[in-house]
Amino acid sequence: MKLIFLGVSSALSIGYLKFHSNMLVETDSGKRILIDCGGDVRHAMFELGYTAKQIDAVFISHLHADHVGGLEWLGFSKFFMENIQVPLYIGPELKDRLWKNVLCGGMSTLEYTEANLETFFRPEKIEEDLSFTFDNYTFQLIKVPHSYSNNLLLPSYGLLIHGNKQKIFITTDTRFAPDELNSVYKDADIIFHDCETSEHLSNQHSHYNQLVTLSPEIKQKIWLYDYNDCQLPDAHTDGFLGFVTRGQQFEF
Ligand SMILES: [Zn+2]
Repeated sequence: MKLIFLGVSSALSIGYLKFHSNMLVETDSGKRILIDCGGDVRHAMFELGYTAKQIDAVFISHLHADHVGGLEWLGFSKFFMENIQVPLYIGPELKDRLWKNVLCGGMSTLEYTEANLETFFRPEKIEEDLSFTFDNYTFQLIKVPHSYSNNLLLPSYGLLIHGNKQKIFITTDTRFAPDELNSVYKDADIIFHDCETSEHLSNQHSHYNQLVTLSPEIKQKIWLYDYNDCQLPDAHTDGFLGFVTRGQQFEF
């Protein structure tokens, strides 16, 4: 089982070919699930030699454009070039909003019918405990605090993935919430953590200066990603595994 980082940078990053923070998980039998599908994804995939044809499913953590902005490209590519509806894994409360608030404008019109989400995507079952199975591997959705709208939490869903050798936790976009996430931090063997490195705190993400206060036992399991365009701090000296670089792969 392999995790491949198609991109490693924040929504606001430009240049440096770091793209957005989207990943691929490839199982031992060669099935590939895209972990988020942001606006940069086709370029990020091209740089590593992947095309839409090689994608078997997609998981969406939340509805910011650096996580969903490439879905129109993916849906249209699979529909028009392969006549395939892409298996879609998404948190239950996000599915309708994905179509109505994100995709409907560009994807609803087809010459012979009015399209809907199911025209291009095949929503897959998420169990009551918020887990799903992909190619016999268990993916557990972990609700993390990211954005608020009018005091209402708009969550992102991280993933705890049970691999062959290790359990990995991909936080996706999350605020610094050590109390909420502590049990998952402990459960995971390796953590891939959202890490803002800009001078100013957005309060939507976990900032490096906050993450550095975690215990040494937790930090020694953490790889950092989703960072900004700036000089990066010395993560090794501070007890982390390091900053993930674009294209980096992890067997687990
Ligand atoms: Zn976000």
